[in-house]
Amino acid sequence: MPIRLHDSLTRSPRELKPAQPDGIFRFYNCGPTVYAPAHIGNFRTFVVNDVIRRLLELEFGADKVKHVRNLTDVDDKTIKRARDEGRPLADVTKQWTEKFHADCAALNCLPPHIEPTATGHIKEQVDMIDVLMQKGNAYRAADGSVYFKVSSFDGYGALSRVKERELQVGSALSGKSQAADADEKEDVSDFALWKAYKPDDGANAWESPWGRGRPGWHIECSAMSKKHLGDTIDLHTGGVNLLFPHHENELAQSQCCNGTTFAHHWYHSEHLLVDGKKMSKSLGNLYTLDELVAKGFSPMALRYALLMGHPRKQLNFSLDSMHAAESALKSIYRTASYFCKAAGKSIGDLYSTECLSSPSWLTFEKTRDSLWDDINTPEAFGRFFLTLAIADSNRGETTNHSLDEFNAFSKVLYVLGIDLRPQDLKLEAPAAITALAEKRWAAKQSKDWAGADALRKELTAAGWNMKDGKDGYTLEPLKK
Ligand code: AMP
Ligand code: ZN
Repeated sequence: MPIRLHDSLTRSPRELKPAQPDGIFRFYNCGPTVYAPAHIGNFRTFVVNDVIRRLLELEFGADKVKHVRNLTDVDDKTIKRARDEGRPLADVTKQWTEKFHADCAALNCLPPHIEPTATGHIKEQVDMIDVLMQKGNAYRAADGSVYFKVSSFDGYGALSRVKERELQVGSALSGKSQAADADEKEDVSDFALWKAYKPDDGANAWESPWGRGRPGWHIECSAMSKKHLGDTIDLHTGGVNLLFPHHENELAQSQCCNGTTFAHHWYHSEHLLVDGKKMSKSLGNLYTLDELVAKGFSPMALRYALLMGHPRKQLNFSLDSMHAAESALKSIYRTASYFCKAAGKSIGDLYSTECLSSPSWLTFEKTRDSLWDDINTPEAFGRFFLTLAIADSNRGETTNHSLDEFNAFSKVLYVLGIDLRPQDLKLEAPAAITALAEKRWAAKQSKDWAGADALRKELTAAGWNMKDGKDGYTLEPLKK
C-alpha cells in the first residue's frame, strides 16, 4: 500500500513518491524561530513531521529520504529578543537552538539530515532575489528594500486560495510588517524579499546589491530548499498557519526564480488548542515540555498525547490527555513484555534496525494501513490496541510467528516514535520488586502456596501485579 497524504494544493489525498530518477525523496519542513523555547503546539507540528519522516523511511528506505528543516535565526522576533537582553543575536539563537534540539531528542524526533540557518545562507538568498529582479518579479523601493511583485505571478493564491478571501488594504496579506511597509510598496499585497537596514536591527545587517539590510522571512526557505534539495522538492510541510502568507510566498518566489514546479506535494497539520482555546501567554495556557516534565509527566507521554488526534484536525490538549497518554504507554509496555518473552528478546531489542527490515506486518497490518492512509493516528491507535488486547490474552505464548510478530510490533513503535526504554516512564520494576517476584516464583515452584500468597500481597502493597505464565512471570504496575 503506497503512502497517501492530503495535499494542500489540490485539496485531495495523493500518493507520496520520489519524482526524480535517483529515487531520493526530498522533504522540506519549515523549522522553528529560535528566540524562546518551542511550545507544545510547535511540537505537535514537529512530532507529526517526524512521523512523516519515519513513514517515508520505512516505505522508501532510510538512505532514500533527504530531510531538511531550517532554523529561522534572524527575523523581527529574534532581533528584538537579542536587543532586549543586550546580547549578540548569535548568542540568543544558539541558546534556543540547543534547547530545541534537547526537546526534540526527548520527544524522540529524528534530527533532519540538514538543518540550515537563515544567517548561514545570506548569499543564496541574495542570489535568488537577484534573479527575481532580473526577471521582473521584484523591485527595489526608495529605502533600499526589495519587494516581490505579486501581480507578476499568475499562480499567486492557488495554494492558500487567498484570492478567494477578502483582499483589502489593511488585511494581513503580507504578514506582520505590512502596515509599516505600506508606503514603500507598489501594491499592498507585495511582500519583502530584502529589508533595508533600520537602527533597531543593530549589528544584524548584511551588504547586498540594494544596500545594507537583511532578508525577509519567506525567501529563506526558498533559498535553503533550492540549495540543499534542488529546484523541485517532493514534499513541503508546516503548521496550518504557514499556508498563508509564508508558503504562498515561498511558492511564488521559487517558481518565478527557478521556472519550474517548487513542490509536488504540500502538507499542513492543524493547530493544538489548550483547554479549547488558542495558546497564548496572556491566557496562561501556553505549555512547554519542561513545564509538563515538572508536573511529573514523561516526554514520551507528550509525544503520545500529541498523536492522539488526527493531524489535520485541531487537537484539544489538557492535562487529562497527559494522564491518558501515560496509562496508554504503560499498557503498550505490558504487552511489549509479552511479545519480547515469546520471541526470546528484550525491550531494547525492539529498537534494533533489524526489526525494520522484516517484511511482514502480520496482525498489525490494519494499524499500518491507517498510518499509510493520511497519517490517521487515532484510527491507528484504535487498531493497535485491538491487536494488543488479543496478544495480551495470549500472554506471550510462543508460536511460529513470535519473532515476526515482535518485528511487526517494533515497526509500529518505530513509525509512531514510541520509545519504551526511557527511565522516566517508570515502567521497569525496581530491583527490590524483582527480588520479591523471584522469591514468590520459587515458592510457587516448590508448591509453598501460603508463602507465595504472602509474597503476592507484599507485591500488591508495593503497587505491582505479578502475572504467572507457564514458563515464567511478568511484572506490571497496578493501574492507579
Ligand atoms: P515558529 O517557531 O513560530 O516558526 O513555528 C514552528 C512551527 O510550529 C510552524 O510549523 C508552525 O506552523 C507551528 N505551530 C505554531 N503554533 C502552533 C500550534 N498552536 N499548534 C500546532 N503547530 C503550531
Ligand atoms: Zn519556511
